[in-house]
Amino acid sequence: MSSLVLDRIGQLVTNDPGVGDGSPLGQLHDAAVVLDHGRVQWVGPAEGAPAADERVDAGGRCVLPGFVDSHSHLVFAGDRTTEFEARMTGQPYTAGGIRTTVAATQAATNDELAATLDRHLEEMRRQGTTTVEVKSGYGLTTADEARALRIAAQRTSETSFLGAHVVPAEYVDDPAGYVELVTGEMLAACAPHARWVDVFCEQGAFDADQARTVLAAGAEHGLGARVHGNQLGPGPGVQVAVETGAASVDHCTHLSATDVEALAGSSTVATLLPGVEFSTRSPYPPARALLDAGATVALASDCNPGSSYTSSIPLCIALAVREMHMSPAEALWAATAGGAAALRRTDVGTLRPGARADVILLDAPSYVHLAYRPGVPLVHQVWLGGNPHTVSQRGFGPLGS
Ligand SMILES: [Zn+2]
Repeated sequence: MSSLVLDRIGQLVTNDPGVGDGSPLGQLHDAAVVLDHGRVQWVGPAEGAPAADERVDAGGRCVLPGFVDSHSHLVFAGDRTTEFEARMTGQPYTAGGIRTTVAATQAATNDELAATLDRHLEEMRRQGTTTVEVKSGYGLTTADEARALRIAAQRTSETSFLGAHVVPAEYVDDPAGYVELVTGEMLAACAPHARWVDVFCEQGAFDADQARTVLAAGAEHGLGARVHGNQLGPGPGVQVAVETGAASVDHCTHLSATDVEALAGSSTVATLLPGVEFSTRSPYPPARALLDAGATVALASDCNPGSSYTSSIPLCIALAVREMHMSPAEALWAATAGGAAALRRTDVGTLRPGARADVILLDAPSYVHLAYRPGVPLVHQVWLGGNPHTVSQRGFGPLGS
């Protein structure tokens, strides 16, 4: 693989607080980055950049680490347009939407599931996402959960077993029997294809004891813990996540002061998913309280056909700034380094030398434009492990014209 120097960068975000302005974003101006053998080889002022086989002139634009989307549900079939339209027009909405997707997913062929997954992954890459976590959870039988994870694991190393997504219809009278299935035969079939175990700890899904049982069983198979918690109302999700040392607790929409304090004093990342609140017209999570208390915050899409059918991290950043009062810098950090922390990764979400060469070139002078220009496709080019993934076919005009 040939080396590449990306120079004349107006604003370079490294997420390395040891360089540049000393802020968490580690910003440099008039900078260059050299990519070689799939890694970031060198970062520094443009005039000091070493020679490389190829050169890309950023023309004063902004360069960022690729987005790390640490929460998605992309192995699914079917469509829930009607449900969304009903919700948006105020018609009565009944829960159980997940089961609609489960039925469609179970009925789909492997090729159909793989094609849908590939289409959404491509959509994500075009918008700057270079690392993505994918969950199962729409199979809910041993065979269907295992095939979802097999398909996902062929495309990403960040796969989560979410058999404990919802109690399927055939177990509504025997939830304990379903937990037994999830932690027994289903887990054994799924663990070889998963890095993580996840559980939906919420009223109407799984309670604290069931969640602990699921996470402990996953740990015995070497799976790290993640939790869906405190989405629909206050609950034990955050406490369970913190006490089990989960890498992340996701949603965090309804938090008590005790929850915020527990997160701030732990290594569990609070992953906020504002696409959900946007798409379900719900109150947003208390990002400010979490940040002010010192908790680590990540932003992710939760891309799924029911509650958040967006694959766009730039949209999530814009919502975090506009609706959750995160600063543009906090939102960008949360969608890159924060996502990496939620996946316990140190090789992505940063552009320090040695990191994976996952890079975004924006057609904008500053990352602030991600929130300032919502809905505008500003991602011009993406490099995945140093390989160019062309997003825009149009050339650059002069910046500012
Ligand atoms: Zn989710």
